[in-house]
Amino acid sequence: MGRKPLAGLFLTIGVSVGTAALAVPTADDPAQLLERAEGVRTSNHSEFVSILKRLDQQAAGLSLEQQWHLRYLDAWQMAFDGNYSKAGAALKAIEDQSPYAPLRLRATATQLNILGFGHRYEVGFAQLDRLANLLTQVNDKEARFYAQGEAAQFLIIAGQYDLASDYAEQMFENIPTGRSACKATYMKLHALFHGGANRVQQQEFQQGIDTCTHGGESLFANALRSDLADLDIQLGQAANAIELLQGHYAEVEGYHYPALMEFFNILLAKGYLKQGDLDKTRKFALATIANGVENEYSEPLSQAYDLLYRLETQQGNMRAALTYHEKFMAADKGYLNDVSARALAYQTVKQQLLANKLQVDTLNKQNKILQLQRELDHKAVENGRLYIALLLMFLASIALWLYRLKRSQLRFKRLAQQDSLTGIYSRQHFVDAAELALRQAAKSTRSACLILMDLDHFKLVNDTYGHGIGDAVLKRTVTACQGHLLSHDVFGRLGGEEFAILLPECGPAQARDRAERIRMAIAATPVDGETRDVVISASFGVASTDRSGYELRQLMIDADNALYRAKHDGRNRVVYGELGDVSTGPGADTGGHGVNGDLHPMPPHTGAVS
Ligand code: GH3
Ligand code: MG
Ligand code: MG
Repeated sequence: MGRKPLAGLFLTIGVSVGTAALAVPTADDPAQLLERAEGVRTSNHSEFVSILKRLDQQAAGLSLEQQWHLRYLDAWQMAFDGNYSKAGAALKAIEDQSPYAPLRLRATATQLNILGFGHRYEVGFAQLDRLANLLTQVNDKEARFYAQGEAAQFLIIAGQYDLASDYAEQMFENIPTGRSACKATYMKLHALFHGGANRVQQQEFQQGIDTCTHGGESLFANALRSDLADLDIQLGQAANAIELLQGHYAEVEGYHYPALMEFFNILLAKGYLKQGDLDKTRKFALATIANGVENEYSEPLSQAYDLLYRLETQQGNMRAALTYHEKFMAADKGYLNDVSARALAYQTVKQQLLANKLQVDTLNKQNKILQLQRELDHKAVENGRLYIALLLMFLASIALWLYRLKRSQLRFKRLAQQDSLTGIYSRQHFVDAAELALRQAAKSTRSACLILMDLDHFKLVNDTYGHGIGDAVLKRTVTACQGHLLSHDVFGRLGGEEFAILLPECGPAQARDRAERIRMAIAATPVDGETRDVVISASFGVASTDRSGYELRQLMIDADNALYRAKHDGRNRVVYGELGDVSTGPGADTGGHGVNGDLHPMPPHTGAVS
């Protein structure tokens, strides 16, 4: 035989209120039926069972949520019928599979109730841990209130009064509409009272009793009266205790809840003992034994045997005394076994939870480290990309800078190589190009010639027509020359109105011919353009490598001397060699206006000047 404390009581009182307002459903509306079933679970259990039957028959027409709700009520019904293993399995399935968190929480809490009821502390504490986790996910007040109530109750049964009062305290935040603070108050005061001496005042119990009475929850009111009577006796106020307990004795008998009845009886026995009423002490001690929870050891039972043993000893009934003492020893041992079992279970589970928590913490830390590592790796990759991008940008800007530098260098070079007005080679570039051509000519020992050319009386053109027309004449002259040049000829403007042409692979006679043709082209009167009225001529000095050698400097000197001769001989003519060996042009043939020694420049023929 084994007896346990307070078993069974709370499975029913947890839901025994709030039925009055519920209308009896008229139609087969599942929502209404479910609501009604919730309400009458304990107050009208047979109606509850018949509603469940009705709902089970029309289960196919229920919404998914209603189907899960029905499954829960069916499981609850199994537990109520004492079919704990089946109920436990059904509730576990709901806890694990239902998509509705509030229902999962309720299923978890009902399992906890069953475990507490069966004094399965170790499994119960593990279940409580799951309940605590679920509580963090559920906002539904009703489900939270129920779960917190079951948690508090389990912890009271398991002797963890401080934790129980913490849960009770939380219940105050979730009191469902239509319910009073009674249950939460009861749990709180009960847990505090059993958790240590002097933690609850008589007045607080009285207020709790009032709350429960007003809330229509008489069972909780009487459970609080039991605690208050206990306190009264501890405080030496046995008369108050007896009055209180006797005043509600019949009412409590009507509940048929042995666990509460046990307390009323043993407290009355203790109260009467204080008052020296041994008959009534015996009567209520015997009642404690007779009306106790079947097959369970409890503190009241153990105390009842102890009282009877002492009474019989006092009265000299040693046989009876011995019998009660044996029973007291058995009950006390059973009760103490349960007390130590629950303490041990709590410690075991606490260690397990601690170990799990440590493991989870370690895993979390490892995960965090991994995550940080990943973030760092990611950052490193990003940084790497950034560096590459920066490097590319840097290289690109250097490339751009180099490109621009090169372009401007080329531009400067072109500017330096080109004569800005006519576009032909500048003096320096002509010198470079001519020297190159001469070196090549020297290598091949082929003849090359240099023609120097100077416009005649050009100052007069400027003076007569203006500098702009002078420029146009210079361009026209260049164009005229280009018409008689070959691709490998080197043509440059030496400055002002002086030009030079190096003719590679060209002998003196050919050079003279080429110069002559150029001379004629320049002297030809233009048919159109802004310079068409300007008549111009040029004088030419030609030198050849045959005579001067392949040094440009000498060629220049010789050609310049020849040019000087051409000017001196009357202009508009070609003179070859320093001594004027070959001389062509109108002046040479006709002696026209290019007579020797004519140092006075002739004005050009112009229509504009008369
Ligand atoms: P000569 O027949 O003796 O060579 O007489 P000239 O007038 O051509 O000789 P001079 O060297 O005295 O004059 C050259 C003139 O060329 C002087 C200058 O005004 C002109 N001149 C030089 N460069 C330019 C130029 O780029 N544009 C223009 N319009 N005139 C220039
Ligand atoms: Mg000149
Ligand atoms: Mg001139």
